[in-house]
Amino acid sequence: MNTIKTEVLIVGGGPVGMAIASELRYQGIDCFVLEQTDGVVTDPKVSTVGPRSMEFCRRWGISEAIRNAGWPKDHTLDVAWVTSVGGKEIFRIKFPSYAERSLPEYSPETEQVCPQDWFAPKFINYLGKYPQGNLKLLSRLENFTQNETGVVAQITNLESESSKSGNTETIEAQYMIACDGARSQIRKQCGIGAQTFHETQVFQSVVFEAPELPDLLGTNNAMVFFLVNPIIQEPLRAVDGKGKYRLILKPREDGKIYDAEEAIAAAISIDTPFKIISNMPWRLTHRVAETFRDGRIFFVGDSAHTLSPSGGFGMNTGIADAVDLGWKLAAIIKGWGGSKLLDTYETERRPIAVRNLEQANANLQRTQKRSIPPAIASDSPQGREIRQKMAEGMERSGVKREFDAPGVHFGFRYQSPIVIEDNINVPSEDPFQWSQTSYPGCRAPHGWLEPGKSTLDLFGHGFVLLSFKGKEGLETFVTASQQRGVPLKLHAIDNPDIAELYEKAYVLVRPDGHVAWRSDILPNNPLAIIDRVRGEF
Ligand SMILES: Cc1cc2nc3c(=O)[nH]c(=O)nc-3n(C[C@H](O)[C@H](O)[C@H](O)COP(=O)(O)OP(=O)(O)OC[C@H]3O[C@@H](n4cnc5c(N)ncnc54)[C@H](O)[C@@H]3O)c2cc1C
Repeated sequence: MNTIKTEVLIVGGGPVGMAIASELRYQGIDCFVLEQTDGVVTDPKVSTVGPRSMEFCRRWGISEAIRNAGWPKDHTLDVAWVTSVGGKEIFRIKFPSYAERSLPEYSPETEQVCPQDWFAPKFINYLGKYPQGNLKLLSRLENFTQNETGVVAQITNLESESSKSGNTETIEAQYMIACDGARSQIRKQCGIGAQTFHETQVFQSVVFEAPELPDLLGTNNAMVFFLVNPIIQEPLRAVDGKGKYRLILKPREDGKIYDAEEAIAAAISIDTPFKIISNMPWRLTHRVAETFRDGRIFFVGDSAHTLSPSGGFGMNTGIADAVDLGWKLAAIIKGWGGSKLLDTYETERRPIAVRNLEQANANLQRTQKRSIPPAIASDSPQGREIRQKMAEGMERSGVKREFDAPGVHFGFRYQSPIVIEDNINVPSEDPFQWSQTSYPGCRAPHGWLEPGKSTLDLFGHGFVLLSFKGKEGLETFVTASQQRGVPLKLHAIDNPDIAELYEKAYVLVRPDGHVAWRSDILPNNPLAIIDRVRGEF
């Protein structure tokens, strides 16, 4: 039997598995991803790559490819609440199209609509297919064992399954990362449960093509239509901006699923031809694994947490897990990570999973708790009044939060032993109060150093010490990091705007772009700081 050796084995080539492979490769670690399918996404769930994920894609050099994947730049990004598509409009949030919008002041990237069937090939191109690249398609993990030095996995090569021999292989890795999705076989085999936070619900996802609909809608077009009528109260979303749509349906009260054709006809009141592409049931669970680690095995993405798609935080939470774990594994494999560094993956990421789960559920509840009077679509004065009152309620209840939540994407803070807090201007926990800060644990602020070059472009490989007070005295930090083999780069920045953004004279930033330590004075014992932030404490 063939045996393959690698430093890190990643099981599952969904978006999160490919993200952690990208991060490990970026960090110079030998890894590969096992994916049981041929890599072709037939039921694209993810529609939008969030702004923080786009910053990571920028680091991996694929953000431009994602921006140019196919979403029309002049397509409206509005969200409209309607009694039906082409029926009465109740409320609309206007968002400028990508062609019209400028970058936000807090990021060198914006989020990007890019359905998963466009997004996945960009990762596949970047990673390449095994054996030249990191992606081993048509390969299924069957079994695994772990001991103190590594993990041994048995896999089936599905490409050659029909042939009589040679279809099983053994992989020996130092670590294994379970990115095998919500039903994670690996998590179950490790005996790790996942706490349920809210009631499980069953939905139907109907993808269809109605190529003439965008033109028929003209200026009434939107990216997302929230249907507000007594039959359907779910979203209908433009998938590719070219006439492909996804309609989410909650099975009727009698528990029966909708006839997809009838449901589309009820959702769209304009006469237009359509063709159903897929009609799949899916279960919405709100679960977070009890632990994100079992020895040398780590749980990342949906194997660790599942959340409501309302808000589009699911994959993005997984990509941030991937970057948090990626640099830590690289540090351990390269020998400079401290003995407790890997424990901080769970300490840092599990609370963020719970936070994002609750944010997504708040969005879901806002929609599901709305009562729909039967006269909602009526032309009568009563119908008009109902719609007017509902619109006022939507404005008040903050429906915009589901579609414009930079604080959810950027405003989380790691509270862990490898973050040295100073308790000065501690940021609010409320994501809707978020603004950029260099408070330890937070994502370091973005500012333009020069056209096209963000402060974020300085981070990624090793630690970075930013000084806004010149270079004097920094050599003690360099000596300390050299003593421990910790990669450290120094940047003395002479720019008052960036200095103001960073608040302190000295700011130490981790490879994932989060602040580890900051101060106005240089420490007497930089070695103690280096030890803390590398996980030796
Ligand atoms: C309707 C809907 C819309 C959504 N929209 C968004 C959005 O806009 N933005 C967002 O951030 N999130 C969104 N999400 C959530 C998002 O889809 C998930 O969070 C994301 O797909 C999780 O990625 P993953 O890689 O962890 O898992 P998955 O995407 O589930 O991938 C797991 C992979 O592991 C493979 N696998 C499993 N077992 C094995 C094995 N034994 N051997 C080899 N391979 C294996 C599977 O084939 C699969 O490819 C949405 C979800 C839904 C349901």
